[in-house]
Amino acid sequence: MLQIEIDHLNKHYGGFHALRDVNIAIKQGSFVALVGPSGCGKSTLLRTLAGLEKTSSGDVRIAGQSVIGKPPRERDVAMVFQSYALYPHMDVEHNMNYSMRLKRRPKDEIIERTRAAAETLGLGNLLGRLPKALSGGQRQRVAMGRAIVRNPKVFLFDEPLSNLDAALRVHMRSEIRKLHERLKATSVYVTHDQVEAMTMADHVVVMRAGVVEQQASPLDLYDRPANKFVAGFIGSPAMNFLPATAASNGVVVLDSDGAQRIELKRGFNSGLKLWVGMRPEHLSWKPGSNDIAIDATVTSIESTGSMTFVLVELAGQPVVVAHSGRPETNKGDNLRLYIAAENVHIFDRDTELTL
Ligand code: ATP
Repeated sequence: MLQIEIDHLNKHYGGFHALRDVNIAIKQGSFVALVGPSGCGKSTLLRTLAGLEKTSSGDVRIAGQSVIGKPPRERDVAMVFQSYALYPHMDVEHNMNYSMRLKRRPKDEIIERTRAAAETLGLGNLLGRLPKALSGGQRQRVAMGRAIVRNPKVFLFDEPLSNLDAALRVHMRSEIRKLHERLKATSVYVTHDQVEAMTMADHVVVMRAGVVEQQASPLDLYDRPANKFVAGFIGSPAMNFLPATAASNGVVVLDSDGAQRIELKRGFNSGLKLWVGMRPEHLSWKPGSNDIAIDATVTSIESTGSMTFVLVELAGQPVVVAHSGRPETNKGDNLRLYIAAENVHIFDRDTELTL
């Protein structure tokens, strides 16, 4: 069943078109990430779902009912923000059940729901603490607890982990995911971090300049990006792109002095201007059967300990090669690199669409 349907949604701020004909269908119980560079409109879209922004045109339905014009409190959604926005003078328990007390829910229900949410989040022994006596991760859990006690149809997360340090982010990522698996409530999660989106979500919506560029499962986005933007945005380090031109017989010639050729056995119109995309982790030192060979020269080497990023010049362009471990290579070495034909991505240079 669909929990959220966003239909031809547009949002203008004066003359600025912030959301452009957005269409997204979100299944009940799924975890959806909205991801894209700063300013792409992901927070605006989330705030529109919450009822904090008015739409300019189009429809938003939650559980089959249009919510256009409905105030936030009538939408049965709970939002968790980047700033935890806890009341500093209230302890954890009172922060968590504030909305229920406001609605004058029965006392027993308030106690029971607060207790259950605190248990779910491991906050049981902190209920009497004030926010100033909590760590960043604990404050973020209280902010989530405040959303959980409301038992909403939909959770909306707006970059909830941005204020945490790297280690805590990774920890909270898996906590939120586990929580989702327990509660099974539909969740929409805004982040600019593609790794966060890929590791947490069942379905990822990639946005750019108010437009949904592609929506798919994380691995589909990685394996089959619809265009050069998505290909470059998903994956770390980012995909390498090289200008090339289609020759006859499915051969692609990299635009460089040496005119390196890649035989793909895929038909393109001869003379078509292309981008060739190769992920750093797909370029290898060792040939596999039927791999394509490409010559390159090492320009520098960066090691993180477990991974080595070898920067090479390939057909006159800078290219990153990711190698697990420590390859025996030095600056200035001439290398022969290999890549499987199915890992070579081809984009039309004009439209930037995948071919
Ligand atoms: P970030 O990751 O930086 O938060 P975002 O993808 O969440 O970015 P939004 O906050 O949704 O981006 O903003 C989308 C665009 O709409 C931006 O160009 C922003 O400047 C513009 N915008 C947002 N709110 C308003 C407003 N109240 N008035 C005018 N323009 C706005």
